[in-house]
Amino acid sequence: MTEQPTLVTGIPAGLTVRGLDREDTPVVDWLCSCGHHERATGRTAVQQLLARAHAGHCPHRREVTS
Ligand SMILES: [Zn+2]
Repeated sequence: MTEQPTLVTGIPAGLTVRGLDREDTPVVDWLCSCGHHERATGRTAVQQLLARAHAGHCPHRREVTS
């Protein structure tokens, strides 16, 4: 399975939510400050992703706390 990484263009860093105001299935794209991109599809997944993204910190890399 050779899935190439998708180069996201046209989406600024942050959250892009689509479809929440329609009957359509909502989709959210989250481009983290670390460059990690996540996409959630479906109302539940979107809500969960929004909650994590609104936490304001990057969850993709663990900071050394010691
Ligand atoms: Zn991140």
